[in-house]
Amino acid sequence: MPVYLYGMPGRIDKIMEIAARYDIPVIEDAAEGFGSRFDGRVCGTFGKYGVLSFNGNKMITTSGGGALICPDSASKQEIMFYATQAREAYPYYQHEKIGYNYRMSNICAGIGRGQMTVAKEHIEHHQHVQKMYEELFAGVPGITVHKQPSPRYDSNYWLCTILLDSSLRVVGEENAYAEAIVGAVGGAAGVTHGGGSVHTDCEPNTNVEGMRLFLDAAGIESRPLWKPMHLQPVYSGAVRFVNGVSERLFRQGLCLPAGPYVSDEDVEYIAEQIRGTVGK
Ligand SMILES: *Cc1c(COP(=O)(O)O)cnc(C)c1O
Repeated sequence: MPVYLYGMPGRIDKIMEIAARYDIPVIEDAAEGFGSRFDGRVCGTFGKYGVLSFNGNKMITTSGGGALICPDSASKQEIMFYATQAREAYPYYQHEKIGYNYRMSNICAGIGRGQMTVAKEHIEHHQHVQKMYEELFAGVPGITVHKQPSPRYDSNYWLCTILLDSSLRVVGEENAYAEAIVGAVGGAAGVTHGGGSVHTDCEPNTNVEGMRLFLDAAGIESRPLWKPMHLQPVYSGAVRFVNGVSERLFRQGLCLPAGPYVSDEDVEYIAEQIRGTVGK
């Protein structure tokens, strides 16, 4: 299950080659990679199945739910059978298999059809914001904007992300991790779950948390990169194959605003504030 984090395509060509050699079914998690391409082909169409999310924070939304990209109509039929309560062909409920109630409502699908008309515009907007960040941070020491490694990658830039050198000093970083978070954090719909400690076993560097707090005070929401799954306490017993890259990215990374309502002036203001935190 390759995952296109922040919308960035991965080396799906190599993954498919290995999968074909060992007969491994590949399911692409393209939830963040809607409309991204590798070698000109849309992410989610390389594997046996591709999964898209239309959750509220994604490139387009149906409020909740998503879509499955299927290879042919037979597999679509089978999947929709299971997604529609596994009802057999009788006038009454006859169940020979365990089914699920997983299909999207017609109301949500209607919203999705409307959203499809702005999908291209949204993707182009995210790509434009990314280009601005790349230009505004060019030559700022200690800040690296994550970019496409080569023209084979065509990211939707669902999230624009930067890395901070661990040696970079950020204004106010001494206040990072001064106290445990008590309120709801962004996107949590006001839900709080108290009793958290200040630190966990693996967390963003103090300069990253310092910058996040600085930006928050300037009215800018930013977030650390995703904490790797194998570091989540609930998965502490799970098998992992890791090499340290995901931990390093988590310690150094920050996601910057990129959504449809982020204007050019906003991006300039954000970049100015960030440059201010590093004395540039
Ligand atoms: C959002 C997301 C999901 C989950 O999608 P939902 O529609 O919210 O269930 C899965 N994988 C990735 C990478 C995501 O970003």
